[in-house]
Amino acid sequence: MKLLVIGGGGREHALAWRLAQSPRVHKVYVAPGNGGTARNSRLQNVDLTQIDELIDFARREGVALTVVGPEAPLAAGVVDAFRAQGLKIFGPTKAAAQLESSKDYAKDFMVRHRIPTAAYRTFTDPQAAKAYVDEQGAPIVVKADGLAAGKGVVVATTKEEAKQAIDAMLGDGSLGQAGARVVIEECLEGEEASFIVMCDGNNVLALATSQDHKRLKDHDQGPNTGGMGAYSPAPIVTPALHNRIMREVILPAVQGMAKDGQPYTGFLYAGLMIGDGPDATRPLKVLEFNCRMGDPETQPIMMRIKNDLLDVFEKAVAGKLDQAHIDWDRRTALGVVLAAHNYPAEPRTGDALGPLPEDTEECMVFHAGTRMDNGTLKTSGGRVLCVTALGDSVKRAQAAAYSTVQKIQFEGRQYRGDIGWRALPHGDAAPS
Ligand code: AMP
Repeated sequence: MKLLVIGGGGREHALAWRLAQSPRVHKVYVAPGNGGTARNSRLQNVDLTQIDELIDFARREGVALTVVGPEAPLAAGVVDAFRAQGLKIFGPTKAAAQLESSKDYAKDFMVRHRIPTAAYRTFTDPQAAKAYVDEQGAPIVVKADGLAAGKGVVVATTKEEAKQAIDAMLGDGSLGQAGARVVIEECLEGEEASFIVMCDGNNVLALATSQDHKRLKDHDQGPNTGGMGAYSPAPIVTPALHNRIMREVILPAVQGMAKDGQPYTGFLYAGLMIGDGPDATRPLKVLEFNCRMGDPETQPIMMRIKNDLLDVFEKAVAGKLDQAHIDWDRRTALGVVLAAHNYPAEPRTGDALGPLPEDTEECMVFHAGTRMDNGTLKTSGGRVLCVTALGDSVKRAQAAAYSTVQKIQFEGRQYRGDIGWRALPHGDAAPS
């Protein structure tokens, strides 16, 4: 069987790698893929990104199932277009993907279906938005309505900072159409966790929990990024909290989409803020919905899947997720992102990577911004690699990941030294 994974990041490398291990899979095409997917003999890069070209390719090659990694093709309607041609694809329709592609849509949806989220208002007029900031005070969060590749959220600690963000989005049009409307919302406190499920329009299969690290530098300092590392499971999500998340967030969301006439198929990712207190009563609110898996959360999650992932996807596209299950490795998986010089502002590309350590079942080097250039592997994007290791404890997974990270050299590489710190037993220092 031939499969197609759309995307070219670390998330897609991890998905394609795991899918290729199914004994029924002959080849996994990755469009466009990266330097890492190019090096795996069971994967094959295809240099296509346009939806009509992808459809022609899938038809011509007899692709049995397509899995979409990133949000942009989903928001552009890749699932609707594939389905219209009778091709099997896992992901939400363009309309359902608005849960991610429009923050205003997502907030309105959450309010209508009583899903807990931060109080908010939406504005198109900068003066009215600033008046609201004056009324509410700081800290306060300013979000561009549309997709802005991780650059659309400003957590402002002062009113001035919030007003600058409003001017940049509504006034100067710095984010284009994505910033033509802004959502201004209450600033929430607590610990973030990523809760990702698969949906078939009706049934839900929860994936293992995970936590990302958004800030560039150790101790959660520096600018926000696409994510500098992640681990799974997230100990904060106890079984009691897991039940609450399913009951208060996931099921109302899936049922709400069905009631609204937009049955949700694909990965649904709830970014959660979990406040302090006992599990039964601690505040639990949705920061955002994403209509895809997280990057880098996917990398540790894929490391922990023990059974055939193709079976799960096949049941998902057949509307039979109630019959699917995933066997999770009980160990912790932890991924450390190596980013390029000057990421996230203006990452430098074209730096040569030295030889990479051999991949093993316990430690994988997933690629993102890499490409082969005349036989040399070079950086080609902001986040370059994600070294992901399994260990019997968070500490062991961390030690294994960092010992591999230290073997990888390229000019200007940046990485955090404290991935996993929240999950370490109290008093255990993170490596630096
Ligand atoms: P989003 O893309 O909406 O998840 O926002 C990106 C990041 O901004 C989140 O992962 C949080 O770290 C932060 N953030 C978003 N909304 C809020 C909020 N209401 N309160 C505090 N932090 C937030």
